Amino acid sequence: MNDAITSKLLPEVREFLSQGRFSGFAGGTDLRSSTGSGIDVNDPGSGEKIAEIDDLSAAEVNQAVEIANDAFRQASWAKLPAGERGALLHRLADEVERQKEVIAQIESLDAGKVESQAQGDVQNFVDTLRYFIALSQSLSKRKTLAVAGHEAWTVQQPWGACGFIFPWNFPFLLIGWGIAPALVAGNTVVIKPAEDTSLSAIYLAKLAKRVGIPDGVINVVTGRGETAGAALSENKKIKRMSFTGSPEVGRLVGQACGHNLIPVKLELGGKGAAVVFNDVDLEDTAEKLVGAITFHTGQVCCDATRWLVHENIYDEFSSLCVDKLKQVRVGHQLGDTTQMGPVVNEKQRQRILGYLEKGQAEGANCLLEGGVANVDGCSGHYVKPALLAGSLDNIAAREEIFGPVAYLTKFSSEEEAISMVNQTDYGLANSVWSKDLDRASRVAEEMIAGNSWINAHNVFAHGVPYGGINKSGMGGGVLSIETLMDYLRNTSVVRPL
Ligand code: NAD
Repeated sequence: MNDAITSKLLPEVREFLSQGRFSGFAGGTDLRSSTGSGIDVNDPGSGEKIAEIDDLSAAEVNQAVEIANDAFRQASWAKLPAGERGALLHRLADEVERQKEVIAQIESLDAGKVESQAQGDVQNFVDTLRYFIALSQSLSKRKTLAVAGHEAWTVQQPWGACGFIFPWNFPFLLIGWGIAPALVAGNTVVIKPAEDTSLSAIYLAKLAKRVGIPDGVINVVTGRGETAGAALSENKKIKRMSFTGSPEVGRLVGQACGHNLIPVKLELGGKGAAVVFNDVDLEDTAEKLVGAITFHTGQVCCDATRWLVHENIYDEFSSLCVDKLKQVRVGHQLGDTTQMGPVVNEKQRQRILGYLEKGQAEGANCLLEGGVANVDGCSGHYVKPALLAGSLDNIAAREEIFGPVAYLTKFSSEEEAISMVNQTDYGLANSVWSKDLDRASRVAEEMIAGNSWINAHNVFAHGVPYGGINKSGMGGGVLSIETLMDYLRNTSVVRPL
């Protein structure tokens, strides 16, 4: 790491990183690899190694699941009144908030996320936890049923040990979306973070112990997807599984859970669209869409990556977007003036460059070239934003690129725009942009996806369900009361009178 970056690190972050090697965490203590095998953790901005994590085996992952199940049965977590569980979880939320800058800097360095955006992610974790704590307090778990000739009621119980596999793009925020409803409901959790971005999960597990969350309630297994991830998804003692990541791996996790008859929630990729009508404020809409595609360097599942623009404004709108994208300042994620950081690793950079090449080979026009970006003093994985255009029947318009690359095309009528949006196997999130709110609402309802946004993109509000359909996910969603209910199972009790 060069001196300019090192000098920005908070003392707490330096101290944390000085451990060098990080193991998993289960039952309130380190869960180490018995073979000593490890995985390098790199700063995507400098390309340099910052730490190592333990590469846990299937047996070690299974041990963590045993610990989580034991904690569910033996610790009083599940049996605690919701208020007492909520009070402990509030302590965790408060402590995470107090440590926001530290956690955010660890996350920023680990994931290549611009530091201010990482701080937003940590705050989102806190808000998510507080939202679900509040929701759980008002829940009545026992309901009497009015049934002729019977005394009957239902009672809701937590499931037990729940498994969570997370991707590298929003490591800490997604942990909050995943585990908060499970924990407030009384379940215990085993978290498998992505191998590139495990540090914030480990930090969290240790923080949870410090604030008094009982041992074994929050556990973390580090390691590779094919070993540690696969072991968690194949474990028969997990009571519920949640996976966030690519459709390819989601299918494997779904198969394993299907085989074991374990309920599974899959939050997968996307190829979202933005429909821009000719009555919009061009400047403002261009600014917001450019902001969305460059946010976290385009590594956002629900991004608008297909921009469908009304033919009357297409030329003016596209040249505005090109101008704005050219001005985006690419730099190290801890840099004071950086607007767009690196992508997570070299594999991801090559994926983006490959799609730019393949898209043009299939006939896409290049409005803004993109390609490798050079950042002074840093040899990380940087790319420039790019804009392609043309027919949607193009690999770069069909497949998820996961980088700062948008694909433009023209439409002439509302019906045509809706039909173009829906030409995809994915179904995560789209947006519609127009001053005519009746038209915008109509289009929003016709776009086939889990989420439609009006005059904005990437909108998340606690209380509004967020989830994907088709190739973008199944089994529920996140962020709403339904998510909390997913983590409670029903038993009905009946006595004939
Ligand atoms: P990925 O599918 O490659 O990896 C996700 C996780 O799965 C990682 O922890 C990885 O170690 C693990 N894994 C890999 N192979 C496994 C296996 N065989 N069995 C079990 N686990 C395995 O995804 P990624 O590249 O980390 O993340 C990018 C993808 O995530 C994109 O497709 C993106 O759209 C999607 N995503 C979706 C959402 C959502 O809410 N819908 C949110 C964020 C990211």
